[in-house]
Amino acid sequence: MVEPRPGLAPLIFSREDADRFKGFAGLSMDVMVTCNKREARESLLFTHHGLSGPAILQLSSYWKSGDTLVIDLLPGLDLYEHLGEQKILRPKTTIKTILSERLPARLAQRICDLWIKNRPINQIPDKELKHLSNILHRWEVKPKGTEGYETAEVTLGGVDTHDLSSKTMESKKVKGLYFIGEVTDVTGDLGGFNLQWAWSSGYCAGQFV
Ligand SMILES: Cc1cc2nc3c(=O)[nH]c(=O)nc-3n(C[C@H](O)[C@H](O)[C@H](O)COP(=O)(O)OP(=O)(O)OC[C@H]3O[C@@H](n4cnc5c(N)ncnc54)[C@H](O)[C@@H]3O)c2cc1C
Repeated sequence: MVEPRPGLAPLIFSREDADRFKGFAGLSMDVMVTCNKREARESLLFTHHGLSGPAILQLSSYWKSGDTLVIDLLPGLDLYEHLGEQKILRPKTTIKTILSERLPARLAQRICDLWIKNRPINQIPDKELKHLSNILHRWEVKPKGTEGYETAEVTLGGVDTHDLSSKTMESKKVKGLYFIGEVTDVTGDLGGFNLQWAWSSGYCAGQFV
């Protein structure tokens, strides 16, 4: 057996982040998430307990306790360059208004509470804009854990495939015993691969039982 654990599961915020992002449940946006050299450009969803959505579910299968996720809240935009342009074009516009044009307004407000004082952009030194840009392109989240099997879409780990025939799915240790689908140590990414594996491995075994 390879130690089983929940995969494709929502992640739970640390206590500090839970306080910081209280009341954000339901808010979603397109992001780029990286964790353990894997990345996902998909949507992220704030939940009552933490983060979910395709980007998070996908990366949760590669996340291990203690790991940090790095989230680009504005993928495809060079925020520092954008803010520099806005400073010239609309100097009296507040940073919150400018951020609200690219991010949900509630989040823009919270960003101002946490990381930058809301004021007209021409009053904000470039160094501060650079710092803010770095935070929003590399928002670091250290989850407390996953929501567990209750909401996980798959189980990582399971019966070690080294002990199974790849042709018949029969156990190499116990004759006449077959393992297919979810119970094996085979886990696909989001996108139908887990159902496909269940059907395909079941079909294979079905030829021999
Ligand atoms: C909410 C959710 C969403 C998902 N979305 C997707 C998706 O979009 N795409 C995708 O590819 N995968 C998805 N999955 C994963 C996918 O459903 C599973 O990988 C797949 O169903 C596994 O098939 P399986 O036949 O191996 O196991 P299961 O579907 O779990 O079937 C096992 C069956 O065995 C029965 N059983 C258990 N114990 C016993 C017993 N002692 N005696 C008799 N019967 C027993 C169970 O009741 C169950 O019916 C999702 C999973 C969940 C939970």
